[in-house]
Amino acid sequence: MNEVRVATFAGPGQQAVIRAVPRPAIPPRAALFRVAACGVCGTDLHILAGHWPKPLPWPFTLGHEVTGVITEIGPELAEDYMGNRLVPGAKVMIPPLMPCGRCYYCVHYPKHANKCLTPVYYGRYLGFEKPPHLWGGFAEMEYVDLDMLPGTKIYRLPDDMPLWLGTLAEPLTSCLRAFRRAAESGGFSAGDTVVIQGSGPIGVLAVVAAREMGAGRVIVVGAPEEPRLALCRRFGAEATLDITHHAPGAARIGAVREIVGGFGADLVMDCSGHPSAGPEGIEMLRDGGTYVEMGQFTDAGAIETSWHRICTKDISVLGSWAFTADDIWSGIKMLDRARERYPFREMQSWFPFTEAGIAEAIDAARAMRCVKATIVPDDALAA
Ligand SMILES: [Zn+2]
Repeated sequence: MNEVRVATFAGPGQQAVIRAVPRPAIPPRAALFRVAACGVCGTDLHILAGHWPKPLPWPFTLGHEVTGVITEIGPELAEDYMGNRLVPGAKVMIPPLMPCGRCYYCVHYPKHANKCLTPVYYGRYLGFEKPPHLWGGFAEMEYVDLDMLPGTKIYRLPDDMPLWLGTLAEPLTSCLRAFRRAAESGGFSAGDTVVIQGSGPIGVLAVVAAREMGAGRVIVVGAPEEPRLALCRRFGAEATLDITHHAPGAARIGAVREIVGGFGADLVMDCSGHPSAGPEGIEMLRDGGTYVEMGQFTDAGAIETSWHRICTKDISVLGSWAFTADDIWSGIKMLDRARERYPFREMQSWFPFTEAGIAEAIDAARAMRCVKATIVPDDALAA
């Protein structure tokens, strides 16, 4: 097979077109791996809606929640980011937004290396298109070259971890880091009552992270009941509130406060990305509580209406965006430990790697007909 089929988007609003690109020769510090599965992320939907704040190197291949198996590897690429051996047949994941390790933020603020000035994204540095073909996970194969992009990180997954499950490590890491941010600032302790705003894939995985990190009670505010809120309860949310049954503002806040009881939630985490979530969420908190914003595309301006409430309620407000390279390994380990305790497979709806399949996956995710649309080029490998 001298060609690799990849799905390319020409720009916002465009459908994926599958085309064949030459199969690359493998330099000493590069690898080619067969893609088993790749999740469709809310970020992909935003990028396709034209919301990404920086210029993107269109046309390119989306898909960054990707797992696969190494098929070819250069002789000098012996270990993954954590020092695990890399060999043909090894299961791996390649996360996006990996820090370059050399820019001002990477050198001086390593805990905020997620704000690297030149992160590796979709196999490229943002804004720079470099030959040969490097692509994202909506493809049959993925190619990485650590000489071309030294910031690229490869993580070997446990041999017995199904590759469909491995695609959840990256979004779970986003949630883990958000709770870790809260914990490190004194805003999250074992036994705390947590309210999660948003019941999409990140909301569901935030339930996992909250419980795994010791939350006492977890309540999810979102919609729709099927499939999303029902799934949150199967993941261990004690209660859910369907926002379609409660008007925005006071009615919704009151309903949540009734469930939470007492003085309000210790921690509210916004995974909804919805502009109204901030003002509502801080009113679900007890005074002195902590609010974490992890909806990457929230219009923060909408929070201004309640800006003074941050003072009068004496609360902490934190942002958490993506993750560092070390966070990813924590996410893989959490997923591995937790895999039997949650119905992870129920999160995923699988779609084939065809132009129609990709279009359906994106449409299903956008319309919230599923929780996590996942493009699966190789069912047997993914299972
Ligand atoms: Zn950097």
